Amino acid sequence: MTNDILVFAEQRNDKLHPAALQIVTPAKELAAKTGGKVVACLIGGTLNAAVEAIDKTGVGAIVTVSAPALANYSTLRYRTALAAVIGKVQPRVVLLPATFMGRDLGPRVAAKVGAALATDVTSLSINAEGSLDIIRPVYNGKASCHVGFPKDRPAIASVRPNTFPAATGGGGAARETLAYTPAAGDDRIDVKEVAKAGGEVKDVTEADIIVSGGRALKSEENFKIVFELAKELDAAVGASRAACDAGYQPHSRQVGLTGKTVTPRLYIACGISGAIQHLAGMRGSKVIVAINSDKEAPIFKLADYGIVGDLFKVLPAMTAEVRRLKG
Ligand SMILES: Cc1cc2nc3c(=O)[nH]c(=O)nc-3n(C[C@H](O)[C@H](O)[C@H](O)COP(=O)(O)OP(=O)(O)OC[C@H]3O[C@@H](n4cnc5c(N)ncnc54)[C@H](O)[C@@H]3O)c2cc1C
Repeated sequence: MTNDILVFAEQRNDKLHPAALQIVTPAKELAAKTGGKVVACLIGGTLNAAVEAIDKTGVGAIVTVSAPALANYSTLRYRTALAAVIGKVQPRVVLLPATFMGRDLGPRVAAKVGAALATDVTSLSINAEGSLDIIRPVYNGKASCHVGFPKDRPAIASVRPNTFPAATGGGGAARETLAYTPAAGDDRIDVKEVAKAGGEVKDVTEADIIVSGGRALKSEENFKIVFELAKELDAAVGASRAACDAGYQPHSRQVGLTGKTVTPRLYIACGISGAIQHLAGMRGSKVIVAINSDKEAPIFKLADYGIVGDLFKVLPAMTAEVRRLKG
């Protein structure tokens, strides 16, 4: 095993996921402790822009595995490819973003290479023995679990998106390509088509501003007023589970314990009561604005700014004001 830290830089269609840039930040800190370097691994079809983007984060080396069979994410093929990179780099630690892809891939790769795995990690350090120590929230963020890894095998951790800032600074990292050698059974699943959930609107995990709607919106049609404000603010649209379960929005927009974790600069909660499971996914937002007709709604305890009022009046007024300010 080397002292290197391997980062799985998630990309789709040659575009890096923002979380890939973020996990380089803790990877650099760990590498400074182990005395190794950060090695980024990209797996996919055509890999150009994504490689250039990760190079700008100051990683020490980049390993790419590119093949037509890897153009779309496939658990088994990506598992084989990443396991091959781990075999080549022999890293002490492997970090993946805890995105849908990372959550899916982490356990498969850990099983394949016989490594230990921790998921949805929010803090990482190297202990006095030189092995990885992590902290991961449990019980809906009410408690933290401290996990120590054995030193004799690689430690794999998926890191919660939006926990660390995107890494910057660097360029000119050494580049290496590795051929994809399919393993038996890799073709058991073949991805024929990838549909973008939620249409053309930004994904909540990638957005700087989120306008989120709850059960109070009452219908998919009424969500139009949420989309209008989101458009003016160049924001993503999120939703509570109640709104998604009712079919007002797809579950890909759900924020919370069983949805996505977000930490935007601004989170505007419209007609969302503030149930603990919803807060679990958005409490890390920098500024929270709540619009609710009930002044006792729990969301106001967390909100930086609260508007007690009917969202069907407040939202259009806010949209009009933003339009006016933008000129
Ligand atoms: C295991 C588990 C996991 C869960 N995971 C999630 C999760 O990931 N995400 C999530 O969101 N929930 C989750 N939930 C559900 C959660 O407990 C709540 O039921 C849900 O968040 C409520 O959604 P809501 O706030 O939209 O609806 P409600 O709780 O019904 O709140 C609606 C709010 O709108 C306000 N309102 C009504 N009319 C207006 C109006 N005209 N103008 C302004 N305000 C108005 C009301 O005062 C109320 O506060 C989970 C629950 C469980 C048990």
